[in-house]
Amino acid sequence: MRGTRCAPDAVDRLPGRRRFSQYDRRSPDAPATGTIPMDSSRQQAKTGMEFTEEQIERYARHIVLREVGGVGQAKLLNARVLVIGAGGLGSPLLMYLAAAGVGTLGVADDDTVSLSNLQRQIAHSTGRVGVPKTASARETIAALNPDVNAVSHETRVGVDNVLDLVADYDVVADGSDNFDTRFLVNDACMFARKTLVSASLLRFDGQLSTFKAYRGGGHPCYRCIYPEPPPAGLVPSCAEGGVLGALAGAMGSLQATEVVKEILGAGESLSGWLVIYDALAANWRKVRVRPDPHCPLCGDSPTIRDLSVHVRQDPA
Ligand SMILES: [Zn+2]
Repeated sequence: MRGTRCAPDAVDRLPGRRRFSQYDRRSPDAPATGTIPMDSSRQQAKTGMEFTEEQIERYARHIVLREVGGVGQAKLLNARVLVIGAGGLGSPLLMYLAAAGVGTLGVADDDTVSLSNLQRQIAHSTGRVGVPKTASARETIAALNPDVNAVSHETRVGVDNVLDLVADYDVVADGSDNFDTRFLVNDACMFARKTLVSASLLRFDGQLSTFKAYRGGGHPCYRCIYPEPPPAGLVPSCAEGGVLGALAGAMGSLQATEVVKEILGAGESLSGWLVIYDALAANWRKVRVRPDPHCPLCGDSPTIRDLSVHVRQDPA
């Protein structure tokens, strides 16, 4: 049924939503969502978007949340997110962002699905072994939510294309599996003034943070934590060191949560914080990360002023 249309702010005023809100406030078991400050711009969003009845039903559990509401859901539907890597982190990221109704999802990956991916890369399936990961992810997204326009970037993200790629998106989520890409994406997002939500995995450990150093004032970048990539061979890759499959789900889902919060302007941003998860110890830590005045990218006297540092020097 696509009959009645309803503007986002009108959805906020729906009787059903009001009933839910009043019930939630009275319930002793209700989460303390009221303590999360809202972005004032949320109230002023001019989306020009109307919801179909189908969309109101699909996103009902978002719309009843005070921090999302109809206006927030419209923001999600208007948002453009680039996910780099359709692998262990990229799979839950893409699936939760698609389910949330993020309107445009860019998928950047140059790999094909292999059998050893399926232990954790849940956007793909056994029947798609050998298929490009971008095509497989698009199929999964299309089956989940036809509202989402999934855009394939079947290419290796590199120094020659990264700025063009990120330029088309509001938020970048890095789920890549190597340090070269992670540093490149950090630097590109700084120069392109894009918010970056970055996660990484190894064995039983995961890390997550949000970077918006382009804003200055208290916002660090990835290089403020790790000034430069480790020497080749020092830190094993997941292929060498292994990774617990479900850890990718935990970290990728957290990463999707932070992307959605950045789009909504809801809650507290993870910029300036690093979340560290030790799955074996079942321990989460959230540690403060401050901008480094000596950071080569965002410090007081930056030495990295373009992406030329990433151009590979061929041996003479
Ligand atoms: Zn920095």
